[in-house]
Amino acid sequence: MGYLLTEEQQLIQQNAREFAQEYIAPAAAEIDHTGAHPADIVAKMVEQDFLGIFMPAEFGGAEAGYLSYSLIIEEISRVSGAVAAILVNHASLAAYSISRWGSGEQKRTYLAALCQGEKLGAFALAEPGAAPGAGQQKVVAHKDGDDYVLHGRKCYVANGGAAGVYIVVAQTKPEAGAQGMSAFIVDSGTAGLSVVRTIGKMGLRGCQSAELEFNNVKIPAANLLGAEGTGLAIAAEAQAAAAIAEGAMMVGIAQAAMEDAVKYGKQRIQFRRPIASFPAIQTMLADMAANIHLLRLAVYDAASLLEKGEPFANEAAIIRLFAARAGQSALIDVIQVEGGYGYSQEMPASRLYRDVKGVVIKDSSLDFPEKIIAGNLLA
Ligand SMILES: Cc1cc2nc3c(=O)[nH]c(=O)nc-3n(C[C@H](O)[C@H](O)[C@H](O)COP(=O)(O)OP(=O)(O)OC[C@H]3O[C@@H](n4cnc5c(N)ncnc54)[C@H](O)[C@@H]3O)c2cc1C
Repeated sequence: MGYLLTEEQQLIQQNAREFAQEYIAPAAAEIDHTGAHPADIVAKMVEQDFLGIFMPAEFGGAEAGYLSYSLIIEEISRVSGAVAAILVNHASLAAYSISRWGSGEQKRTYLAALCQGEKLGAFALAEPGAAPGAGQQKVVAHKDGDDYVLHGRKCYVANGGAAGVYIVVAQTKPEAGAQGMSAFIVDSGTAGLSVVRTIGKMGLRGCQSAELEFNNVKIPAANLLGAEGTGLAIAAEAQAAAAIAEGAMMVGIAQAAMEDAVKYGKQRIQFRRPIASFPAIQTMLADMAANIHLLRLAVYDAASLLEKGEPFANEAAIIRLFAARAGQSALIDVIQVEGGYGYSQEMPASRLYRDVKGVVIKDSSLDFPEKIIAGNLLA
């Protein structure tokens, strides 16, 4: 598939593979075990310019494009889904939103800090108990002179606690429903903002998920991102951009699992033959290889569209739909190929399966992919 990538993209891919092997792979099992935020690895990624890899040079980014970024995400995911998730939430959700809708001042202040890795980014949309903007604890933002005051709770915020900058989608006009939500840039150190708790997860551990409390958090009106009422539109596009990177995560995780299953299948002897020689095992391996190949092509395609400034929402929805099926079926089959050992904690398959499920659940937000794809077909 190399012909689809430029020489520069292949170099970036190779560099990311070596980086992931050298710095992340040795720590991956421990990150999963403790669930602690790997600040040392994030600092190493900053040195590699990964945090602003597809962002404009003007704001400290490397301007290497979304496809190069997706290649990096795939390589990191081959060794640690959690570390890849940290980067995706930072880059595809927080930094992307500011680069798309931020004012010049917001980009100089916040995007530059995110690109240079001075601050980690996070995106806070989900709320406890109900859909964003609908529940008792929703975050409401009301205008107070030259400020907005935010009050309420957000849950499941990836990079929560570690982040220095939050994009927060809050209700500014309850009577307007979805059109009444707006996005804000909030510094983590703002008075009244606190991390209530970190949510223990079964997978993607190390990319911490936090519940945040906004207790009359006062921010300047200049921190409104985009226009009032566009919060959900911003979230939808940022989530589509993230879906491409999460497709790359799925490719990386499934590829690592498949390679492990191939190795195991060649070594494990049953009935005096390696189990990889049995057609039932080969069918599972072939399904995995085909799905991974097609998903990778879909990621390259959508990432290329995004970096060219062309519409990518439909392609991102196709990735969401296909990645969930391909990733989950690959990991279930890998565990089957590896039998009792695959089910044990001694093999990586259980961590990889838990990580895959995390990507699928995270990615079931605002609109179902089927609705987006069918909507485009029927328009
Ligand atoms: C690892 C991880 C990271 C996350 N990171 C973030 C983050 O950084 N920021 C953030 O804001 N949120 C984050 N989330 C939250 C995530 O976006 C939500 O968990 C997700 O949108 C699903 O919402 P929910 O948990 O409220 O489930 P629900 O919406 O309650 O869904 C529960 C089940 O009901 C189904 N369902 C819901 N509505 C319908 C319907 N209309 N028709 C049929 N079935 C339906 C769902 O498909 C699902 O199977 C994260 C979640 C995870 C797991």
